[in-house]
Amino acid sequence: MGKFDRFCQSCGMPRAMDEKGGGTNADGSTNSVYCSHCYTNGKFNDKFTHSAQMVHFVKEHLKESGIGPLKRWFYTMHISKLNRWKK
Ligand SMILES: [Zn+2]
Repeated sequence: MGKFDRFCQSCGMPRAMDEKGGGTNADGSTNSVYCSHCYTNGKFNDKFTHSAQMVHFVKEHLKESGIGPLKRWFYTMHISKLNRWKK
């Protein structure tokens, strides 16, 4: 919980857009740090090791959804600052 709780700390998706309201922990409870797309049953759904991989992945997803380049940049510019990618 805290100020970062509004956004998934892996992909940056607003929590309000997560239809499940968050990822799931290994015990089945809701994880409030990561979204349901990134985190299921206590594990990440991807094998990414660097924020650039997530940025690329999210941009491709947004492109497929018909989102223009400026918005793709805007929606992904903060991903490298999320807790998962902090070194
Ligand atoms: Zn996510």
